[in-house]
Amino acid sequence: MDNSLSKFPNLSDSIFSVMSALAHEHDAINLAQGFPNFDCDEYLKDLVYQYMKAGKNQYALMRGVPKLLDQIGIKIKNLYGILLDAQEEITITAGATQAIFTVIATLIRPGDEVIIIEPAYDSYAPSIQSFGGIVIPYRLPAPHFNIDWDAIESLCTPSTKLIIINTPHNPTGTQLTATDLQALWQIIKKRAMYVLSDEVYEHIVFDGQKHHSVVEHPALFSRSFAVFSFGKLFHNTGWKIGYCMAPKTLTREFRKLHQFNVFSVHAPTQYAIADYLTDPNTYLQLTQVFQQKRDYFLEKLKASRFKPLPAVGSYFILVDYTAISDLSDKAFAKWMTIHKGVASIPISPFYSDPPEHKLIRLCFAKTKDVLTKSAERLCKI
Ligand code: PMP
Ligand code: GLN
Repeated sequence: MDNSLSKFPNLSDSIFSVMSALAHEHDAINLAQGFPNFDCDEYLKDLVYQYMKAGKNQYALMRGVPKLLDQIGIKIKNLYGILLDAQEEITITAGATQAIFTVIATLIRPGDEVIIIEPAYDSYAPSIQSFGGIVIPYRLPAPHFNIDWDAIESLCTPSTKLIIINTPHNPTGTQLTATDLQALWQIIKKRAMYVLSDEVYEHIVFDGQKHHSVVEHPALFSRSFAVFSFGKLFHNTGWKIGYCMAPKTLTREFRKLHQFNVFSVHAPTQYAIADYLTDPNTYLQLTQVFQQKRDYFLEKLKASRFKPLPAVGSYFILVDYTAISDLSDKAFAKWMTIHKGVASIPISPFYSDPPEHKLIRLCFAKTKDVLTKSAERLCKI
């Protein structure tokens, strides 16, 4: 084989695919890959079917179905008090993953540096490297995982083009405050750099806290692309619909590449989601639904030897297994799947140079019976 063929000779299947396959092979409960084990609303599914029957089956506009863009604009206005030009500042994408890839394609030239915050979602680094960008990792200090903005600033050079933030954060379950966003603005305002804000867990925030989006900070937003996922919002990760929000000039550049990446995404689903979004309860209830699940699961885990770390957002928690094993996180997660029937995600694949943590990630977006059964198994380890 031509040795120059592979751009990524060391890249293999993502840890999410690997752990889900292992769970399937060993009939383990899958608390690994981040998806709910419950279905999305029947009404939403009916709407998709209705729009298919009504003939909305040809290409949507490249930017997205206009009424969906308008509905997202209304949602942003209601949540953050910011009025966007929805038709010019929002683009519907094939999930957040495509939005992230296209933002990076839009901005990154060979030699540009991109700061990522580790543990970092697995798609960021390869997407950056695909375009010749250089990944500059910042390691969040454990166990609180709060960002030290002075340390971030010290990583900036004249080649820094982009910083990727993720709030609420996968896998640590932390989230950024308004003070964090202000500190970020202080750093980028002095430089010709941009922000990619991954906000796919926007509505999964607990303990009375509020999600802080880059969109609510107008100066910061003037240099930002914010990405979202309907899959996470409406429990249908397989539909792969999301969106990217950015000021007009940035959106114009984003769409130049979006049109040759996917052009447009599944039309009937866009019409359906537009209708569904008219009722804000469809997304406002998420906090309560997932907080109950988190609290229930944590209560059950009290009888185990795992030590959960505080989690205020996303549908993941990290648990420390120091009291149980000396194995590496990958070996431990594999062993637990095969021998104890619960699959998790080791967090070392979220790092370019993994630290010696004894941490695995558990997804609690599961029905009560599955949480009960998995907690019973975890308590016996
Ligand atoms: N960013 C983060 C932090 C995620 O956890 C995920 C997985 N849902 C994505 C992006 C990708 O989202 P999507 O499935 O909409 O592509
Ligand atoms: N976002 C999901 C997670 O963190 C995985 C998505 C994927 O499998 N690519 O588990």
